[in-house]
Amino acid sequence: MGRIRILPDQVANQIAAGEVVDRPASVVKELMENSLDAGANRIRVEVEAGGRRLIRISDDGQGMSRDDALLAFERHATSKLRTASDLLSIATLGFRGEALPSIASVARVTLETATGEEATGTRVEIAGGKILHVDDAASPRGTTLAVADLFFNTPARRKFLRAESTELAHVTALVTHYALAHPEKHFELISATHTIVSAPPVARTAERIYQIFGKETLAQLLPVAAETPLAHAGLPEAPPWKKDPDEPVRNPGVLRLSGFYSKPELQKLNRNSIYIFVNKRLIRDRLLMHAITEAYRNVIPPTSFPVVLLFLEMPPEEVDVNMHPAKTEVRFRQQSLVHDFVRDSLRTALIKARPAAGFLAALDSAPAASPSLMPPAASPLPGSPQSAPLPDSDFPASQSAGADAETFQLTPRVPTPFPDTLPFDPRVLQPGGWESQDQKAWGEAAAALFQPASLPVEEGCSPSPGSAPDGGPSPATVTAQVEAEQAAANLNQLGSLRPLAQLRESFILAAGDDGLWIIDQHVAHERVLFEKILRDRQVEKVQRQRLLMPLLVELKPWQMVVFARIAEELALNGFEVEPFGPQTLAVKAAPVGLEGAALERMLAEVIEQSSSDSEEPKQNEYLTAIRTRIAASIACHSAIKINTALDPVRMGWLLSELGKTSHPTSCPHGRPIALLYSWKEIQRAFHRI
Ligand code: ADP
Ligand code: MG
Repeated sequence: MGRIRILPDQVANQIAAGEVVDRPASVVKELMENSLDAGANRIRVEVEAGGRRLIRISDDGQGMSRDDALLAFERHATSKLRTASDLLSIATLGFRGEALPSIASVARVTLETATGEEATGTRVEIAGGKILHVDDAASPRGTTLAVADLFFNTPARRKFLRAESTELAHVTALVTHYALAHPEKHFELISATHTIVSAPPVARTAERIYQIFGKETLAQLLPVAAETPLAHAGLPEAPPWKKDPDEPVRNPGVLRLSGFYSKPELQKLNRNSIYIFVNKRLIRDRLLMHAITEAYRNVIPPTSFPVVLLFLEMPPEEVDVNMHPAKTEVRFRQQSLVHDFVRDSLRTALIKARPAAGFLAALDSAPAASPSLMPPAASPLPGSPQSAPLPDSDFPASQSAGADAETFQLTPRVPTPFPDTLPFDPRVLQPGGWESQDQKAWGEAAAALFQPASLPVEEGCSPSPGSAPDGGPSPATVTAQVEAEQAAANLNQLGSLRPLAQLRESFILAAGDDGLWIIDQHVAHERVLFEKILRDRQVEKVQRQRLLMPLLVELKPWQMVVFARIAEELALNGFEVEPFGPQTLAVKAAPVGLEGAALERMLAEVIEQSSSDSEEPKQNEYLTAIRTRIAASIACHSAIKINTALDPVRMGWLLSELGKTSHPTSCPHGRPIALLYSWKEIQRAFHRI
């Protein structure tokens, strides 16, 4: 007698449920997807006890006939697919016919549904996979599914559920995501008697963001939209001898992108505020994540992340959604095209908008200082590996949401009172600026003693420090109104600003039509040089200068190894370096403007930064990384220092050169360059409006 058996349906369903349904939020996800697939315009989600006791979802979609209502609970019963080739172009959110039987196998389910075309509707009760009752129901067109006592018959699963509030947070995140993807539909989430989400239909995504997250969040975001015709369809064409002559020529279609992205001064510690929707399905995708990071490269610090809501639309044949049990990962058939399109569209938008940072917003730019859009609880997509519950523990959010956890939750900011005074204090804008005069003097003296000719301590070219200075207002103090006004200001007019004076020989004050500007002379010049170096490098026209005396640099053996890796790129940037003994290099020429101690420290810096690179020297990306790193380092070390007097002509020159750069908003390390104290803010501060 053989030992192999076919599993009974109920067991098979429970196994499937293990993949598809792991917590209340995943039930909500599947049921909302069904409602959307049924063409519903109004979806109401009610939960009790975080969804553990009850989840009820009602929609006004097309409903089901009695036969369909019964069939829907069969395994692999679906109205969305017929043949295997349909799998190649899935336009619905669901397609496997697994959700309802899976859910019904681990909960007590009541379905009420009507098509609106028959005299009566249908009511089906089913528990633990067994149909208990089938009755008439007098329901209007649409479907209501109530799922009670989730996991009542699978105690092991039930034990893994977390606190009600945690489960509710996950459900909320999910409803929020679908609401964002469908602004034209009405979404409600009610927990017990509490309305958590109420989003009536609106015309545009911007209004939906406003409804859900409020004015402040919206004000920090800028819209982006782009499209490109696809050159060819992602699926291969049938060979000519197999082609049906009557078949119409396939139109490759269009790739469309729309959404919102954050200004450079808004920076997050992790990816939690990046949302990617493909054909209205929220997904997690490394490729697109990478494209977004690339778009922000050298605009925000490498350790920070922007806020991005990205909606991609493409013909369904272009994307394989049948990859992941919970359908949260996809594969693009034209991967690099999609990647480059996203990167370039975002970058172009960033360059065009050149948003000016307001004083208050700039205080928010250190990533650690802006927890606003961070989730209160880790919320990976249900079904994702990270969402596996931890036994008997209820981790607070921050512990489980590591920097790499790709969670998907955006929570509204909690407003705090507006400060009495506007923090119009340049000290807070400059790392190290909090030092008292004495400390500063001491620092300079010490630097002079131990590091002859070194830069002042606060010159630092490294990314902005991880936290804002104490005493600065919290990010939430930026009122929405102020933000909204700032949204309009941009840096296009930098070139026409009138330089007024220099503040402590470090910051340029300039007057413009929309207010008073303060420009950090060092980072401004750094940005100008950075873009020039990259440009010159591109056409191999770097200006180099011979040093009167070769500079001898001593390196440790491991530094020699790193140097060998980047030597070629250094040469292309104007360096001429020869070995001078086993552990010494002789630098004979260097880029113009870089000499002495600055040159020495620049070299030490790139070697240090390159030492942690994983060794894949031939990869394009690695080369680009090295190239920009070297350019940034040269720029930083040869730019005008702070504590350097500038005459009006040079100030004017710097402003106009800055105005010509593509990213005058932030230095290559992500620090803000120019801040605007807007006319509105000034008037308000003087109580004139
Ligand atoms: P899938 O969504 O993959 O097709 P499901 O198990 O989620 O599988 O649902 C099975 C079928 O039940 C669907 O194909 C659909 O025809 C029907 N159905 C489920 N929910 C609804 C709903 N809210 N309104 C109308 N039909 C529904
Ligand atoms: Mg479904």
